[in-house]
Amino acid sequence: MDTSLTPVLEEVLRRNPGEQEFHQAVREVFDSLGPVLAKHPQYADAGVLERICEPERQIIFRVPWVDDAGRVQINRGFRVEYNSALGPYKGGLRFHPSVYLGIVKFLGFEQIFKNALTGMPIGGGKGGSDFDPRGRSDAEVMRFCQSFMTELYRHIGEHTDVPAGDIGVGGREIGYLFGQYKRITNRYESGVLTGKAVTWGGSLVRTEATGYGTVLFTEQMLATRGMSLDGLRVSVSGAGNVATYAIAKAQHLGARAVTFSDSSGYVVDDAGVDLELLRDVKEVQRGRAADYVARRPSARLVTDGSVWDVPVDVALPCATQNELTEADARTLLRNGVVAVAEGANMPATPDAAATLHRGGVLFGPGKAANAGGVATSALEMQQNASRDLWSFEHTEDRLAEIMVGIHDRCAQTAEEYGMPGNYVVGANIAGFLRVADAMLALGVV
Ligand code: NDP
Repeated sequence: MDTSLTPVLEEVLRRNPGEQEFHQAVREVFDSLGPVLAKHPQYADAGVLERICEPERQIIFRVPWVDDAGRVQINRGFRVEYNSALGPYKGGLRFHPSVYLGIVKFLGFEQIFKNALTGMPIGGGKGGSDFDPRGRSDAEVMRFCQSFMTELYRHIGEHTDVPAGDIGVGGREIGYLFGQYKRITNRYESGVLTGKAVTWGGSLVRTEATGYGTVLFTEQMLATRGMSLDGLRVSVSGAGNVATYAIAKAQHLGARAVTFSDSSGYVVDDAGVDLELLRDVKEVQRGRAADYVARRPSARLVTDGSVWDVPVDVALPCATQNELTEADARTLLRNGVVAVAEGANMPATPDAAATLHRGGVLFGPGKAANAGGVATSALEMQQNASRDLWSFEHTEDRLAEIMVGIHDRCAQTAEEYGMPGNYVVGANIAGFLRVADAMLALGVV
């Protein structure tokens, strides 16, 4: 890291103790910014770095609710409104027992640069709760969402802060959250949440967008080496929204996706993942990996080791942060992997990312590779503002156009700063420049 950035980082670590994931995310961006500050001292002079690391607003609240047995349950809710230089705060809500302020801040910080990279008018934010929806009935999830929104509603709005889904928050949760927002405010304000069902204000392609976008980004990276996904073996981790539609798009482009995973283990299906079965098990039955294996003779469940042990040409981590370690990166390299693209946020540890890059692997960081989700959320906001519903084809074309734009912006910026092929540097610098210029223009606010 450039020595001029070290004191700023040290201050961030001192002011935010114990928030490891947040520290990791800041360090990763700072590692890329040395050449930018050398070329443009105005950012340091205006305190842009210190300001960009400090959220504009952080809201932490109690979420009380009653479970099916009549017991009172208490969870903690978060919304970190990180940076609104480019537009209303935009970023998902995560419901997972591991959620605490450090996770929400890491995700919110990443979101600033990701949203900037899309070229769309959206700021960065993130939220969630340590609520665990797994094993909860629909009625319990509804009561939790209603209680969560009973506090959150006063902080959000279509021009202020527009949450969406993330881990543990899909169409069902967005429905309950929107229902409570509408009830409390007496406003049918479609643009206040994205990821809505198409039947009541959502956008076609939003469900598929993150996974599709990750694969489209991968295809662009492969094209720089004259390759395509057609005929390649792909491993995917996760079995949720991002993983499912990454598998769908990879298969559509002629690849064979041979794995998926959840917190119970990973599944290897050498015949290629049966997408309809996966969706039935995960989206309809809300089952586990073992339920897929029970219905699919070509598949086996592995409960030790790592999904990255499976030899593949392309790896798409789509589950959660720090799920691909340096040891995994070395295994992937040994097995001849060509490209790794992050469908999840920060799934590769910094050492893993460096090892892959050094090994000549095309590496697409999450803030670029998974930006298709938030970009399509911005398209949903556009449709809401004009009370329109675009066709699937039109929306998918827009998504493809946006992913090509993000890829090219990262590639060109990396080249301009003397690190061709380094998508991490390209994404960090291109995202930073757009936000930093807006912050300079808006003054010290
Ligand atoms: P889902 O909740 O739909 O799916 C998450 C999947 O990952 C599940 O299969 C889950 O398994 C698994 N998983 C989650 N946490 C862990 C863990 N600690 N250990 C092992 N497995 C885990 O989430 P999404 O698909 O929406 O999100 C996945 C990733 O993509 C996240 O990093 C998210 O931030 C990122 N992302 C999502 C976007 C979106 O549009 N949804 C947009 C951009 C990024 P189990 O059910 O067993 O917990």
